[in-house]
Amino acid sequence: MSLVHLLLFAGLVIAASSSSPGSRLILREIADQKDKAVELNTTNFDSVLKDTPAKYAVVEFFAHWCPACRNYKPHYEKVARLFNGPDAIHPGIVLMTRVDCAMKTNTNLCDKFSVSHYPMLFWGPPIKFVSGSWEPKKDKSEILVIDDGRTAERLLNWINKQIGSSYGLDDQKFENEHALSNITNYNQISQAVYDVEEATAEAFDIILAHKAIKSSETGASFIRFIQLLAAHHLSRRCRRGAAEILVNYDDLCPSGNCSYEKSGGNDTLGNFPICGKDVPRGYYMFCRGSKNDTRGFSCGLWVLMHSLSVRIEDGESHFAFTAICDFVNNFFMCDECRLHFNDMCLSVKTPFKKARDFVLWVWSTHNKVNERLMKDEASLGTGDPKFPKIIWPPKELCPLCYLSSNQKSIEWDHDHVYKFLKNYYGPKLVSLYKEKSVSGSKEETVAATEDLTVATNALVVPIGAALAIAIASCAFGALACYWRTQQKNRKPRRR
Ligand code: FAD
Repeated sequence: MSLVHLLLFAGLVIAASSSSPGSRLILREIADQKDKAVELNTTNFDSVLKDTPAKYAVVEFFAHWCPACRNYKPHYEKVARLFNGPDAIHPGIVLMTRVDCAMKTNTNLCDKFSVSHYPMLFWGPPIKFVSGSWEPKKDKSEILVIDDGRTAERLLNWINKQIGSSYGLDDQKFENEHALSNITNYNQISQAVYDVEEATAEAFDIILAHKAIKSSETGASFIRFIQLLAAHHLSRRCRRGAAEILVNYDDLCPSGNCSYEKSGGNDTLGNFPICGKDVPRGYYMFCRGSKNDTRGFSCGLWVLMHSLSVRIEDGESHFAFTAICDFVNNFFMCDECRLHFNDMCLSVKTPFKKARDFVLWVWSTHNKVNERLMKDEASLGTGDPKFPKIIWPPKELCPLCYLSSNQKSIEWDHDHVYKFLKNYYGPKLVSLYKEKSVSGSKEETVAATEDLTVATNALVVPIGAALAIAIASCAFGALACYWRTQQKNRKPRRR
């Protein structure tokens, strides 16, 4: 192994050590099993509860030898079926879990929660359980004991009371969803952080399924988009996944011939899940439609594009524009969408110099699509009735964005629109992540920004994987960053 590879490896190890891929794998594996409640233990307890998109968690402490617990299991599972796994009726709201206190390794964990009988059920925001504890007389704790959950009905009633919902055990998918449309709720965008990961992973899976890197041109377009993700994706695990793909790109796709299989080794593109093994999870949250076939992936892709646009610097704006246009043109498997979007890309005659202009371009392009679809969906009835297309943002979300408006036209205050987009797709979107401290540190963001400046330069030389590695790796460790600095002084390898 060369020094270069060692340094890179060290950089990636540093990145990997601060996260918990194991927990995500566990969540996914468990989602595939028959039991819907997630089995927790001392090792995965903190990481699973930290990683979950759900707003609330139920933790059942039980003992496998306890007959009452065995009898209770079908009740608990009946409720877990509603909330857990890709087939959940109401995904991403409550994470239902269990811990077997009869396992010696879990003794300390059960002691920390003062488990006094089996089964004993707790409720709270998942993050409050992380490194958490519970004592009977601590009245300020956000962790509550569920005192009336002896049957599935009673447990669900208890949950409904806590969150003001009206879920029923017989609910079917998409029932009771979205009593309020999301356009009026400013805070809901923070749920989309998981959709951005979901859409990124789904886009990557589609590329694999279609073996879509077919030429050096599509390969270069793929690399550009992955560079953009490695530097500016809002999710740390997706940035890391993107960087790992760049690091290995030359081996995975020699001369543009990629191997796509998912064999479990590390010699194919298919073995590099871009946002970690647990994503895609199989459902969307903010982008969840009220019908099975609406919203989802394309909504997530828009949010990804907006979230990237607000994170780039002036000097990166044209690179980001090209990366996104080429990505949609080469890899978005919706012909009509691609063609329309490509026309709008081609209509840009002067390179972007300002990030602001690019942010507003993505916004107005999206509105042009909305405007067209408003008419199509009204005549064909193909839209989501709960999420009709609108010219966005509506006044309820951003009154200051409007200078004037009438039935036919809107005069926008572009300064306010820009300000609004920067905040909505910036800090607001990642506010949930911030709460859970999953997002990258300030230092990391600075490093990532610095990186894409190099990526912009990559356009003027043929993109080589060596340069891509350098670009990507800096955000993931000091050693790799050092290596990149060295590398910058050398001539990039030509392909
Ligand atoms: P989406 O339009 O997907 O928007 C997602 C969210 O973004 C909204 O809920 C809202 O919160 C926010 N939003 C809405 N408008 C804006 C805006 N202007 N700026 C910032 N944020 C906004 N479908 C077709 O039928 N024909 C097409 O030609 C077509 N082209 C597409 C091109 C691209 C690049 C993409 C990604 C999708 C395209 N689609 C097309 C799909 C379509 O645009 C919608 O994504 C899909 O119909 C789902 O709509 P939605 O209600 O989830 O909202």
